[in-house]
Amino acid sequence: MAADRVVVLGSNFGGFTAALALKHELGDDVAVTVISPSDRFVFNPSLIWLPFGKRTAADITVPVIPPFEAHGVGFVHAAATSIDAVARTVTTDQATGNVHPYDYLVIATGYRNQMDIVPGLVPENKAFTITTLPDAERAGVAWRRFLDNPGPVVIGATQGAGCFGAAYEFLFNMSYQLKKNGIRKRVPLTYVTPEPFLGHFGIGGLPHGETLLGLFMKKERITTVGDVAIRDIDDGRLTLTDDRTIDFAYAMIVPPFIGQEVVHTVPGLADAKGYVTVRDTYQSVDHDEIYAVGIAAAVDSPWHTANPIGIPKTGFPTEQQAHVAAKNIAAQIRGEKPEVHKEFGDIKGICVMDAGNNGVIILTDKMLPPRKHGMLIPGPQAHAMKLAFEKYFLWKTEHGYVTLP
Ligand SMILES: Cc1cc2nc3c(=O)[nH]c(=O)nc-3n(C[C@H](O)[C@H](O)[C@H](O)COP(=O)(O)OP(=O)(O)OC[C@H]3O[C@@H](n4cnc5c(N)ncnc54)[C@H](O)[C@@H]3O)c2cc1C
Repeated sequence: MAADRVVVLGSNFGGFTAALALKHELGDDVAVTVISPSDRFVFNPSLIWLPFGKRTAADITVPVIPPFEAHGVGFVHAAATSIDAVARTVTTDQATGNVHPYDYLVIATGYRNQMDIVPGLVPENKAFTITTLPDAERAGVAWRRFLDNPGPVVIGATQGAGCFGAAYEFLFNMSYQLKKNGIRKRVPLTYVTPEPFLGHFGIGGLPHGETLLGLFMKKERITTVGDVAIRDIDDGRLTLTDDRTIDFAYAMIVPPFIGQEVVHTVPGLADAKGYVTVRDTYQSVDHDEIYAVGIAAAVDSPWHTANPIGIPKTGFPTEQQAHVAAKNIAAQIRGEKPEVHKEFGDIKGICVMDAGNNGVIILTDKMLPPRKHGMLIPGPQAHAMKLAFEKYFLWKTEHGYVTLP
């Protein structure tokens, strides 16, 4: 009998882990094919360093085909353009052979930037983001130009954003780089955020987090403008919805993330943001054979804040979800029930926030409250840990060792 066919969409944290974990579970009893427009794994946590020249694209990406080949996973270098959940096929933008049937489908297509949340949030207005590799490269070109003619800097996140860690990391790395370039005293630095208080992070905050971040901000002489929404951005000027304006020579603003078009267009599969609505087995609510993991999987936001904020769907929960999906698909293929359940909110929170030569380690027993434990450990060891973790993770990925922690 032919092995069951599993098609995985996406080759980054979620798709890469799910494909290899499934192969690890079932070996020759499953045929796994990954479809992705990216043949390189991108270690997004290091995008914060790219604009400052501390990393290049080559430093923070690794090819995915060698580990897939080594572990018997097929790879199609293409973007999925449609999913037929009834016929159980995925169509891609390949010129020929573009219809891929599946018995099980894993959607790990991640995010797109929702830049139009704020009119004028475009590089032409000196307002950049770093949330994808090309964006971070553009922000780097502008940073080098900025050094010739420095002025005020604004770092922040728009209403609806969830990836606050990246905004904070870039802010403190900016402060560090301004000092390194001998221009910190001449450059006013402002942090703009929809968070109701500093250190909310989209996860409800952590004990002493607000105080700690407040101290960091004071020490670094950073002005904070919190609990706000941005109305629009013009060339070098940001206007808040309360009419306040902030002028800048360089801005980096994290936008909200939304799901990919291919997911959005499948009837009944996704929510309004284009994220697949899932159960705690990571099966789609409507389809037992369709799974979604990582950023592509919807998480209900528990926050009711004056300005909307999202949830940070970070790397650790993405990998955990991918392992849960792999175990449950393996069970279904064996004729058993999918029995591994893990709510997003119950997954442990593990994150390192870099600050240039310093940082904070964030540990929580659960991603979302109510929690028993949550702590922030500041100090230079956090920076060292992020450097070491990057190297370890890229090595692990290069070899396809997804069962390692
Ligand atoms: C700047 C930044 C810093 C971050 N820092 C941290 C950090 O310090 N710690 C942490 O834990 N997390 C961090 N994160 C979050 C982390 O990057 C995400 O959790 C992770 O990328 C989610 O993985 P994913 O596989 O769900 O999605 P993605 O990484 O977005 O991957 C999506 C994949 O789908 C593919 N794809 C897209 N469209 C299609 C299509 N139509 N068909 C097929 N494939 C498609 C893409 O090419 C890609 O391979 C950061 C994120 C950013 C942006």
